[in-house]
Amino acid sequence: MVTTLAQLIGVLDAAYPPQLAESWDSVGLVCGDPRDEVTRVLIAVDATAEVVAEAVDWRAQALVVHHPLLLRGVDSVAADTPKGALIHRLVRSGCALFTAHTNADSAAPGVSDALAAALGLTVTGPLDPKSADAVDNWTVQVPRADTDRVLDALFAAGAGGTGHYRDCALRTPSVGQFRPVAGAEPATGAIGELERVEEDRIEVVAPPGARARVLAALRAAHPYEEPAYHVTERAPLPAGVGIGRVGTLPRPETLRAFTARVRAALPRTVWGVRAAGDPDREISSVAVCGGAGDSYLSVVRRLGVDAYVTSDLRHHPTDEHLRAGGPALVDAAHWATEFPWCAQAEAIVRTALPALETRVCLVRTDPWTVDGTH
Ligand SMILES: [Zn+2]
Repeated sequence: MVTTLAQLIGVLDAAYPPQLAESWDSVGLVCGDPRDEVTRVLIAVDATAEVVAEAVDWRAQALVVHHPLLLRGVDSVAADTPKGALIHRLVRSGCALFTAHTNADSAAPGVSDALAAALGLTVTGPLDPKSADAVDNWTVQVPRADTDRVLDALFAAGAGGTGHYRDCALRTPSVGQFRPVAGAEPATGAIGELERVEEDRIEVVAPPGARARVLAALRAAHPYEEPAYHVTERAPLPAGVGIGRVGTLPRPETLRAFTARVRAALPRTVWGVRAAGDPDREISSVAVCGGAGDSYLSVVRRLGVDAYVTSDLRHHPTDEHLRAGGPALVDAAHWATEFPWCAQAEAIVRTALPALETRVCLVRTDPWTVDGTH
């Protein structure tokens, strides 16, 4: 049974839905033919020259990475440019390149779940939850004899679907009333007379993108000259996905002990692991964000956690954060905080496509190489 690159992409897109990616990001297939057969998949944080060499030497047909190789606008992948050379090497070796970046950050499980698990945290939710998809709720009054026909028209226009259900509606019997005045052309009743009609009040949900279509269908199917209806958009609700995670330690420990825990849990790097804050501060609740998480410093202050683990923290934001009474900060190498994701992605691929050979690339792609101690 042949496994295609398209099947591998299907598994990765299901685990890390591309629509979860931030708007500025570039995720998905960078090079490769979805129709090609895949037998070996290498997983890494970065597509560096060393990582690409390992993929090619191992004769992998797919290299799955976290960081986009080509993020900003690209005019050329000529082989005499550093990134173009890698693309050429991959294409010539029959190895596809696939990226799961901020979609893998926000998915559940995602990058920060892997980091939280490595640290022994019990995750309670995302650090920065994404809102669930917006939903319109339509309420329409329909003369009872026309309820089924109007509902069918609304369903055909995209209303009434939720999850794995369709044709969903609430119908409540009611009595409508109206008095047509001069100029009206009522479907029922007479000018100047108060008319009472047995009606159903129907409620259906629809995506906001279908609003114009649903309204046109409603007007076309409804017998009244002026149908009575209203549309409300559901208030945004936090979904279970989003950047970063919040969790708790099995039991409280000092910042000193917690920092040692982080150091022991992550692969060794020149960057190392360091903490900012009182070493004796008790740590119980922890926020984590794999990769550069300094843009969430104000968020973790509001959350009231005891510590925040991320990477790429700078002097002034760190100093100001501590002055503002924020949680202790633990800073690790960017690559090290995202490396645990590789095993997560590997397990997802292996479970869905057991015929594939998978491997996590152990090359340390953190750019820092010398710590000056010897
Ligand atoms: Zn990153």
